Amino acid sequence: MTTIRDTLRNVGIIAHVDAGKTTLTERVLHLTGQIHTSGEVHHGTTTTDFDPEEQKMGITISAAAVSCAWRDAAITLIDTPGHIDFTIEVERSLRVLDGGVLLIDAVSGVEPQTETVWRQAMRHGVSAVAFINKLDRSGADFDRALRSLQAELGESMAFVAVQCPIGTEDEFVGVVDLVTRRALRWNEGLAFEIVPLPPDMEDDIERRRAYLVEAIAERDDVLLDLFVEGVDVSEDSLRAAIRRCTLARTVVPVLAGSAYRNRGVQPLLDAIVDYLPSPDEKPPVRSADGAMTRERSVDAPLAALCFKVSFDDHGALCFVRVFSGVLRKGDAVHVAGGGKLRVGRIVRLFADQRHEVDALAAGQIGALLGANLVTGRTLCAPDDPIVLESVQAPPAVIQMAIEPCTQRDRERLPQALARLLVEDPSLRVEQNAETGQTTLAGMGQLHLEIARSHLRNKHRTNVNLGAPRVAYRESVRGAAQMTHRHIKQSGGPGQYAVLTLAVAPCEADFEFVDQIRGGALPREYVRGVEKGCRSALSSGVLGGFPIVGVQVTLLDGDIHTNDSSEHVFELAAAAAFREACALAEPILLEPIMSLRVQVPGACGGEVIGDIGARRGQVLDVDADGDRRTIVARVPFAELFAYAGTLGSISAGRGTHAMHLSDYAPIPLGELSRALR
Ligand code: GDP
Repeated sequence: MTTIRDTLRNVGIIAHVDAGKTTLTERVLHLTGQIHTSGEVHHGTTTTDFDPEEQKMGITISAAAVSCAWRDAAITLIDTPGHIDFTIEVERSLRVLDGGVLLIDAVSGVEPQTETVWRQAMRHGVSAVAFINKLDRSGADFDRALRSLQAELGESMAFVAVQCPIGTEDEFVGVVDLVTRRALRWNEGLAFEIVPLPPDMEDDIERRRAYLVEAIAERDDVLLDLFVEGVDVSEDSLRAAIRRCTLARTVVPVLAGSAYRNRGVQPLLDAIVDYLPSPDEKPPVRSADGAMTRERSVDAPLAALCFKVSFDDHGALCFVRVFSGVLRKGDAVHVAGGGKLRVGRIVRLFADQRHEVDALAAGQIGALLGANLVTGRTLCAPDDPIVLESVQAPPAVIQMAIEPCTQRDRERLPQALARLLVEDPSLRVEQNAETGQTTLAGMGQLHLEIARSHLRNKHRTNVNLGAPRVAYRESVRGAAQMTHRHIKQSGGPGQYAVLTLAVAPCEADFEFVDQIRGGALPREYVRGVEKGCRSALSSGVLGGFPIVGVQVTLLDGDIHTNDSSEHVFELAAAAAFREACALAEPILLEPIMSLRVQVPGACGGEVIGDIGARRGQVLDVDADGDRRTIVARVPFAELFAYAGTLGSISAGRGTHAMHLSDYAPIPLGELSRALR
C-alpha cells in the first residue's frame, strides 16, 4: 500500500475573532516562501483575505485553503472564520481538516467564540495544538491563558505546555522548547537564533519539563516505562509520546508566541508537523449512513467531498478534499445524488495563486475549475459508490426582504441567487407566492449584508434589503381533521378531488401517513396529496413562516373518472392541509440562542439583568479572577444589535458568542409583535 504518512497536514486555525488568525496565516506563508511581503491586517492587504469584502470588513469570511511547504511536509492551512454568522464556514472546514491550531489571545484567554468553535472541532474528532498568541501585549500572561484553556476547554484532555515564554509584554523575546531545552530568541524580522538558556530560568524550565514528562507519561505507556526506570527522557521519545497523545486526543500541546512580532511561528510549524496527524493516521472515512468505511489510502477507490464552491470571473471554483483514492484530470467520476462528472482542470491554491495539477491524491485538498457541483456532494468511483456525510447548514434565524434595484437587476436576480446558494448553503431564498416578495434568510444580519455585497460585486446584481426579521417557524399544538372538496366543473376541463385528512404534532419535521382503505384513491393521487402537503409546508397560516413538526394522516378520498388527476389532488391537499393546520391550534416557534458572554466582574450583574429584560434565562455564571462567563438562553428576537449594548455595559471589554440552541413556542404576549 502506498503510504502518505508524514507528508501532508491539513490544518485549520480555530479562534475567536481578532485572536490573530489572519496575522498568523500571513506569517506562515511568509516563512514558507509563498509571499514576499507580509501584509498587515489593518492595511487590508493580507493574502488569505483576498476577497475585497473581507478586506473591507477586516474579518475572514470565506475559508481559503492555502498550501505551503515546511520541512518535508506539505501543509494546507484552512482559514476558518471566528464570527458566529459564518458557522457554516467553520463546519465545512472541520469536515475536511485533520488537525487544528487553537489560537488564543494571551491577554483575553479563552473567549466565547473560541469555546463554540472548539466544541464544534471536538465533535469532528480534530487533534489540536494550541498557540497562545500576543504575548507581546501589555497584560499578557502565558500561565493564566494556559489555565483558562484547561479550565474552560479541558474536560476530556490535558493542555500541556511544550514551551515557555522568555520574558513577557515588551520584553517577550523568545521561547524555551521544553522538549529540547533549547532557547530560541528573535530580534527584528522572522529569523531566530538559538541562545544559551537564561540562567534565572533554569529551575523553572526543569520544573516545567518534569511536569510535561509526567503529564505525558500518565497518558502514554511507552513513556511511562521510561519514566519509572528513572532515565532522563530523550527528546525523540518525548516528542513521539506527545505525538501519540495528541493523536489520541488526550493531550493538546501548548506553544507560545506573537504572530505580529514574528515570534514563535517556526516552532509552531514544527509542532504542526511533529504532533498533528497526517491524513492516513485518521480512522477510515465513514459513509453518511455509517454502513461503509473506506481506508484513507491512494490505492482505495476514490472518495472526495466538495466542501465549498465559489464563483469568480472565470466561473466556479469547487474546493474538494480527497479522502481515498486519486482524483485525476480527465476521469469520469460519479457524483453521489447528482449524476456524473468529467474532471476538468484541477488546481491547488496558494492564497490567491493557483497552480494547475494533474491529480489530487488521498489526503490532498484542491479545487476543480468550472465544475458543476454543489457544496456537500461526494465524488466517488463509479464502480465503488459511497456517500459521505454532507456539510450540514444550521437553520436560518433571520430574514430580510430583497428588492432588485433596477429592471436589469430583476432579470439577473434568479441566476445570481442560484449561484449565491451554491456558494453558501447556509443561505435560504424564499418566494412568497401571494406577495411575490423574495426573502433571503441566514445566520445573522452581517451574513445577509455580506450576501448582498456578494450579489453586487461577484454576481453584478444590486438589491435593497428590507428590515431584518426573525425567521420564525410554525407548528401546531393540537389535532384537527378536515374534509376538503375541490370541485370545479363549470366551463373548460373540470377539476374534482375530495379528501379527508388529519393533522397532529410530531417530533419529525414532517410525516405523511396513508390510511386510505380499500383503494379509495389510486396510488398516484395519494402521491399528489403528499406532494401538496409538502408544498404547503413552506408557508404557514399565522405569518407565512415554514411549518415544522406536523404529521398528516390521509383518511379518505373520492374521485371523478374524468376530472380527477394527481395534480388536482395536489392542489386540493395543499388547501386541505392549510385549513386543518388553522384548526389545530397553530403556534409560532421562535429561535432561541445559546448565548455566552464574558465580561469583567463589575459588569456581571448588569449583564445578567439585561439578559432577564430580554426574556432570557441565565443557565450558568462562572467566575475566574475578575472575569465572569455567563451562559444563557435568549430568544433571537431580543438579540438584535446585542453587541452594541454589551459594548456600552462593559465599556468595550465584553465579548460574546451565540449559536442556535432550539425553537420554543413564542409567548402569547409577544405574538402580535412578532407578526407585525
Ligand atoms: P483574526 O480576526 O483572528 O484574523 O485576527 P487578525 O490577524 O486580524 O488580528 C487582529 C488584530 O490583532 C490585528 O490588529 C493584529 O495586528 C493584532 N495582532 C495579531 N497578532 C498579534 C500579536 O501577536 N500581538 C499583538 N500585539 N497584536 C496582534
